[in-house]
Amino acid sequence: MSKKCRFCESLDDVKRVKKRFYVCSACRPAVYAVINSPDVIEQVWPLLQDRAILPQVRRIKIPWRVEMPEELAAKRHRTQDREQNTWYLIVSEHEKQPVELFMSTAGENDYRLQSHIANLTALTRLISLMLRHIFLGEKITIEKVQNQLQKSSRQSLDLPDMVLSVLNKYSSSGKF
Ligand SMILES: [Zn+2]
Repeated sequence: MSKKCRFCESLDDVKRVKKRFYVCSACRPAVYAVINSPDVIEQVWPLLQDRAILPQVRRIKIPWRVEMPEELAAKRHRTQDREQNTWYLIVSEHEKQPVELFMSTAGENDYRLQSHIANLTALTRLISLMLRHIFLGEKITIEKVQNQLQKSSRQSLDLPDMVLSVLNKYSSSGKF
């Protein structure tokens, strides 16, 4: 029985590549392009595809090469929560994609809002991390997640602080 192409399941002229997987004649050029010209693939990909290169490809240590200008265009969105507090969500854009999210509020020093602010800061910081991963290919690491949680916390035992201390239990036990 002949082998199927690993990528499209075709049986057409399937050959084993790099002694690792079976590839049909139609998929072979793409596979060889990845083997022979990973740098070119990496540069072409974001020009033609609106999603990040797959995480499997990232793991082969492709450096983060997207160059971001120092100043990004930003859009500010005014919004109100259900308790009528006003918030501003600021979205930085790079090549028309959202890559960073910030929030601010007039009630920055209002003690009743401190836990709201900590939660929203954690949310926007972690979403920013994900957006940079999706649109710029920045690698997400557990240290970055911990760092963003730490910067979001405003007082001990607020939600970001609680989440961080749970995660820290794993890092101190060497689980990551
Ligand atoms: Zn194929």
